Amino acid sequence: MGGPPTQRPAQHPEKDDVTMRGETMPLPVGLLTLQGDYERHQQMLGRIGRETLAVRRPAELAQVGALVIPGGESTTLSRLIDRSGLRQPLLDFAASGKPILGTCAGVIMLSRGLVNETHPDWHGVQPLGLLDVTVERNGFGRQIDSFTEPVEVVADLARNHSCHAVYIRAPRIADVGPDAEIIARRPDGEVVGVRQGNLIGLTFHPELGDDGRFHELLG
Ligand code: GLN
Repeated sequence: MGGPPTQRPAQHPEKDDVTMRGETMPLPVGLLTLQGDYERHQQMLGRIGRETLAVRRPAELAQVGALVIPGGESTTLSRLIDRSGLRQPLLDFAASGKPILGTCAGVIMLSRGLVNETHPDWHGVQPLGLLDVTVERNGFGRQIDSFTEPVEVVADLARNHSCHAVYIRAPRIADVGPDAEIIARRPDGEVVGVRQGNLIGLTFHPELGDDGRFHELLG
């Protein structure tokens, strides 16, 4: 386990992508570390050679070139996003075209809405409304809290490759709108991953496997 993601100085963020020798360096990938499972994302990004920066405040979001919204508890995540003043900066970040990868609770936050929102336990999640999907929290029910199975990764991303996916109290994608492209399916065809321009949403946890391709989509 690594420590907290590398902190970079807050000053001159606009110069972070240029070294002293004038070579361009990618900006770090931000990890939304308000809550949840971000350490394994940090490790996976390290394995593919990307520097990371913990994002808990708007000033940190301004220093990154891409962002991971990790799994966790979406009710808490939603409240912490509002409490830390990150909601509008996250919307602006997405609108600027910078990539965002949302996994599990992260895809709940990226979604345009939840089904069964009236359930009392689900009160309080305010999705960002960025990704053209609706999701059902804990859609696999209590009888299967966690499971792994192969996932078919479609599109150019992996040249129709298959990899192993870990689901932990995962949401289900209930509906995929026309703006979202399907990039991953369960063996029975159920959609578990979508992409919409710079946004990627996965109901499973790619950071728990050994397949860095989803993280490579962060540029
Ligand atoms: N069940 C959680 C929620 O609804 C998500 C679980 C996860 O991110 N691993 O927020």
